Amino acid sequence: MNIALIAHDKKKQNLLNFVTAYEPIFKEHSLFATGTTGQRIIDEVGLDVYRLQSGPLGGDQQIGAKIATNDLDLIIFFRDPLTAQPHEPDVTALLRLCDVYQIPVATNAATAEIIVRGLSNGWLDWRTLRDSVGEYHD
Ligand code: PGA
Repeated sequence: MNIALIAHDKKKQNLLNFVTAYEPIFKEHSLFATGTTGQRIIDEVGLDVYRLQSGPLGGDQQIGAKIATNDLDLIIFFRDPLTAQPHEPDVTALLRLCDVYQIPVATNAATAEIIVRGLSNGWLDWRTLRDSVGEYHD
């Protein structure tokens, strides 16, 4: 599976802790991330990550583009709900595309936990089926 990892600044440490806790699962998958989030995962967790631009510089839009081309299977996005973000429109657009293309998206640790455990149980295997059918939006 191709998994995108994103965290707003005040949530980055939470995401690093999360990725560390589930490192045995994450290392089985291809990881993508916005710039700063990705660099910290590489440096502090030691996983391979394909880094896109930093979120405020277009990284969220790059993730959105990958959703639109069916190149991502799961988005884990630790949002900061208490701080205004200059790129809020990009965040909204990304989440909208997840709904358009039926891509699982977790915007907090509680949901991410359920989805990642489900991932290791094969609950996202339908994504592979959808690939072969070639039909991935409503
Ligand atoms: P960053 O971007 O990983 O480059 O900080 C995340 C975001 O703010 O969307």
